[in-house]
Amino acid sequence: MVRAVIVDCLGRVQTGRLSTVDVIGAGPRSVAGVLEKANVLVYIKPVEEFIRLKGKIRTYDMLLISAMSTDALAVKVAIKYWKKYNKGLVILGGPIVFGYKNLKNIEFDIAIYGEGEKTLEELLNLGLKDAELPEYNELVKVRGIVFKNKRDKVIFTGRRPFLRRNELNKYVPSTRSILGYRYYWACRVYVETVRGCSNFHRPLIVAEEKECRKCMLCFKGSFKDRIHCPLNIPPGCGYCSVPALYGPSRSRDPDRIVSEIKSLIDYGVTRIVLSASDILDYGRDILVEPNPLTNPSNPPPNTEQLRKLFDKIFSIDEISKGEVQVILENTKASLVNESSARLLGEYFKGSPIHIGCETGSETHATLIGRPVGPNKVIEAIKLLRKYGLKPYVYFIHGLPGQSKETIDKTLKTMDILSSFVEKITVYRFTPIPGTAFEKYPRGPSAKSNILSKLIVEKAREMNMRFKENLVGRTMEAIIVGSYVRNKKYNVAYTLPHGPVVLIKNANKYYGFRVLIKVERVISDRMVSGSIIRIIGNVRLKVFRRKRKIF
Ligand code: SF4
Repeated sequence: MVRAVIVDCLGRVQTGRLSTVDVIGAGPRSVAGVLEKANVLVYIKPVEEFIRLKGKIRTYDMLLISAMSTDALAVKVAIKYWKKYNKGLVILGGPIVFGYKNLKNIEFDIAIYGEGEKTLEELLNLGLKDAELPEYNELVKVRGIVFKNKRDKVIFTGRRPFLRRNELNKYVPSTRSILGYRYYWACRVYVETVRGCSNFHRPLIVAEEKECRKCMLCFKGSFKDRIHCPLNIPPGCGYCSVPALYGPSRSRDPDRIVSEIKSLIDYGVTRIVLSASDILDYGRDILVEPNPLTNPSNPPPNTEQLRKLFDKIFSIDEISKGEVQVILENTKASLVNESSARLLGEYFKGSPIHIGCETGSETHATLIGRPVGPNKVIEAIKLLRKYGLKPYVYFIHGLPGQSKETIDKTLKTMDILSSFVEKITVYRFTPIPGTAFEKYPRGPSAKSNILSKLIVEKAREMNMRFKENLVGRTMEAIIVGSYVRNKKYNVAYTLPHGPVVLIKNANKYYGFRVLIKVERVISDRMVSGSIIRIIGNVRLKVFRRKRKIF
């Protein structure tokens, strides 16, 4: 039987992954599911663990890598390590392939562009399931791949149409492969509920430069009209690749989501994240079919379908008993109203939920392609808070169009939000290949740019204050390994999700769910605390299983 290893480089940048990061994305397991269906024995390894496998690398027949464009360095390290021990094929996938023109310096055999399932299935049938590279004349006929010809020229065979909802639902992500992640029993494991994004607005900053025809198709056109801009500007916010790479939103079948969650729980997973660029897009696509869901505001949320999904999830025994936590990933302000916020609060009280604001200026928000501006974001955050959720809000500094005026407005927005949000995250703008902003320079560092510095420092101050409010409070957490920078401390992941907590000399509690008391703020992201008591008096399920990965 052919053996494949998928190396998860997502979000690694280099090969270091701090034990303070507790996220396991859904992409590698989706790919593993396609390989399992073709009878390939597949394992997933995060890159930081992969590069310690040494001779075991020889036991595999091919390497698959999942990465973002910012992870190119980690990808190169993984391939170099692979080639030291193995001559097998190297297949690249994930958002990194969106910038395929930049892949010249990476030694891969095939890269899969966009949604991987159907393309990978076709490649497996052409020989990949026996770890063999298909012939050149076969490869050129497979849509959605990138490879190099004999002269080292990068060839892209063109986009494959996005999977339709019923096609997407035929694919079953692997659950067994979760065992490849060291702390999977304590990590937030993402389960895909919605693929793609419903925001098909275009950034007018780019459109104006290209002499936008003001046809307004991308803002006011029909669902189908919004797919293509006459100027070929990629859809969505200018800094994000999701709609262009993964297409309009499509929902997964609730029964498939539930059986995936049940199987993950069976393997010992204790924290599930319902992954979606907007959970409130769930089921909206069904309302507009056969049209693509390309409008971020209309129709409003499909509360009936959402309730159906949530009811099924919360009827899983371990979830209803609170042994396994389910939390939300993202929502867009454009879909938050009184009834959708109430519905989320009914099932997810206490759950964090991420919501993008990015800029405090209404005009700037339209210019960068946002679904709605900051006023609507403020309104949405207040509603989510009212119904018991914990909003985490995103901003970006260094965006095209940033000015003193946009920064002043962003600072004011942050002030208004300070009593309603749990955390503020500020990213530095980095152009992603294939997006509308790909040709813009990276935003200046907050150290060198006074405007960027203002919002970065304000967020740090606010996050410190939020953390200080936690001192003296108790919360549940799971104890994992030692803290890399100081081995005397163990890392604890808070439940359902909160700041990372460092606990001194807690090795004997490894794998236990505990009640902790927060004692001190270490940084705007981390606190320290002590254990009050063990909850349940038993190590997590994984320790009762024979955990044999290799
Ligand atoms: S679809 Fe393109 S040309 Fe038309 S308004 Fe939008 S950005 Fe301008």
